[in-house]
Amino acid sequence: MFIISHKNTVQKLADLPEPFEIPAFLAITELLKIRKIRPRTLENLLLQLYQDSQAHPYLTTFAHKYGTRANVGAPEEGLHPGELLLRARNHIPGITSAYFYISAGITATTAHCEDFHLPSINIDWVGASKMWLVVRPSSLPIFERSVRTYFGCNRPCSQFVRHLNCLPSPSLLKAWGVDFEVVEQKAGQLVVLDPYVYHVVINSGPSLAEAINFAFPSWSPHLTYTECTQRCHSGQSPITRDDFVLEDKPRPLTIDESNEDPTPLAPLKKGKGSQPPLRRSKRNGVGFGLQCMGKS
Ligand SMILES: [Zn+2]
Repeated sequence: MFIISHKNTVQKLADLPEPFEIPAFLAITELLKIRKIRPRTLENLLLQLYQDSQAHPYLTTFAHKYGTRANVGAPEEGLHPGELLLRARNHIPGITSAYFYISAGITATTAHCEDFHLPSINIDWVGASKMWLVVRPSSLPIFERSVRTYFGCNRPCSQFVRHLNCLPSPSLLKAWGVDFEVVEQKAGQLVVLDPYVYHVVINSGPSLAEAINFAFPSWSPHLTYTECTQRCHSGQSPITRDDFVLEDKPRPLTIDESNEDPTPLAPLKKGKGSQPPLRRSKRNGVGFGLQCMGKS
């Protein structure tokens, strides 16, 4: 089985014409070890998403601004991309600085690996669990080959899976002979992904998460990575090796709202446009993002 979803997948808060009210979250106060779950659970969730007639918002917005962080109730400082990415010539929100991911129901991030095969960090601050379907590195070639065959895809770039906007189900991956894990990330838990790991994320309900890419000091864009071109992203400049050329001085991790661009000489590659107001649900109150951290 294979599901292609054009609804309930992530979009930019800046693209919404109306103010968005953050949904009420269920705060979980216990920190537990991340656990594996049965592939059947994720399969059922995918079916629910597919059959859901309602399209729930799933939004991203900048997490590197103190004002936005306070507005959603997250801690003052967020996830760090490592000193190297803070020195990258161009600031790329969501990659060299963090993004918030606000889900209003059962929503999904379609199959992809990270830009330039960077590792990534994701924390579910509060709300419902995120279910991760992660392709084992040993199955990477068979996964890519199977996706290309299934879609008849011959795009040359390294992000061809992401561009297909697809949600492969566990049963289909099994039929392809792809080895994978399914894990549940509860609120307060952090998921770290190695470089070049394909994954799908299903939000099982309303939640607020934060994610970023990071790089170790020895990292440089790999020679075998094939960059996207203008044809991949209409109206947007693709991310290139040039963006990761290092400057001497790192940019700040978090900035004041009044300073719209932390690196005035470096144009933004993503997240353009002004942000509509973000309304906090009265039921959540200030600081709900901290409740999920628990006492253990
Ligand atoms: Zn591309």
